[in-house]
Amino acid sequence: MDCLFCKILDKEIPAEVIYEDDQAIAFRDINPQAPFHALVIPRRHIHSLNELQPDDRETVGHLVMVASKLAEEHGFAEQGYRTLFNCNSHGGQTVYHIHLHVLGGKPMGWPPY
Ligand code: ADP
Repeated sequence: MDCLFCKILDKEIPAEVIYEDDQAIAFRDINPQAPFHALVIPRRHIHSLNELQPDDRETVGHLVMVASKLAEEHGFAEQGYRTLFNCNSHGGQTVYHIHLHVLGGKPMGWPPY
């Protein structure tokens, strides 16, 4: 399958991996939008949030748990941070393997646009 993030999982493409376990990995975003910007992805390929199945419940919950752990470990949990999934074109998704963005280290704006 021609998926950029599957290639990062298979170590065909390098990435700065900062967390990994049997279900998920996290690596630094190549084009960071905040002092800390990482992507948490499941090892199993899931195209977008639209393809989620009931069996994915635990995996998706796990991604959020990893995001929370990263915020704690990298010291910005208390100040706060932003997590988000982009879905399809209106959501701004460009890589079709679900990924949870974790951004921290500066105040975030709202609304997004
Ligand atoms: P967007 O590109 O609009 O942020 P996504 O939500 O699909 O859309 O996010 C994909 C993210 O993947 C982007 O933040 C992008 O910088 C990041 N990215 C793309 N290629 C790589 C890579 N090789 N290593 C790390 N991050 C990457």
